[in-house]
Amino acid sequence: MNHSINTKFILTAANAIQANILANESTLESLDRAIGDGDHYINMKRGANVIVEMQAELAPLTPEDALGKIGLKLLSTIGGASGPLLASFFMSMGKVLKENGDESTLKIAAAFAAGVQAIIQRGKADIGEKTMLDVLIPVSNQFVLLAAQKCDVKLICATLMHTAEQGMLATKDLIATKGRAAGLGERAIGHIDPGAKSCQLMVEAVCKQVLES
Ligand code: ADP
Ligand code: MG
Repeated sequence: MNHSINTKFILTAANAIQANILANESTLESLDRAIGDGDHYINMKRGANVIVEMQAELAPLTPEDALGKIGLKLLSTIGGASGPLLASFFMSMGKVLKENGDESTLKIAAAFAAGVQAIIQRGKADIGEKTMLDVLIPVSNQFVLLAAQKCDVKLICATLMHTAEQGMLATKDLIATKGRAAGLGERAIGHIDPGAKSCQLMVEAVCKQVLES
């Protein structure tokens, strides 16, 4: 089964992401306090709130333009390392959907993968460096693989939620080689990366929305 993306889905997803970030305030706070500077929850909350407040402005746009606008807004709103990285994800995803179309699950997966590539390029990081990419790279690879196999979209979402969870948990045993936590050496071991946790929460929110539809 193929699924295209629409702006209403994006707006509902923004609400679901906001709810999941707000519901995990103490987790995100304490993770960034342990291996960062403690602002990650505030950054994510500010980003989620500003997108939800843009609903009326986004609603008339095509999904591609809505994603591009979300990226630009995040760039000017979220501070820290995570802001420009997440912004480049949404801008690239929107750009690739615009160029290649959005009428199949595989095209949506390919646009998601392009968004993740943009984060890799901007942050010059890769898998295994204890960052958000430890969630996003496996999720992106799995998404493209399952979409290419024409897997049912609900099965894809159930699998991606699991992949995100595994990637997030795997950051606990890693030493950070990018971002603020890189200065901690072995002291970062035993703590989940905050950006990996917030990306897992975002993947979970969007996948649950599809599963419940
Ligand atoms: P800051 O580190 O500037 O305080 P945040 O606390 O909002 O910004 O975000 C920290 C998160 O950003 C980290 O947990 C990590 O997941 C992610 N991050 C930091 N640097 C990179 C990078 N180069 N590539 C990918 N993700 C990164
Ligand atoms: Mg921080």
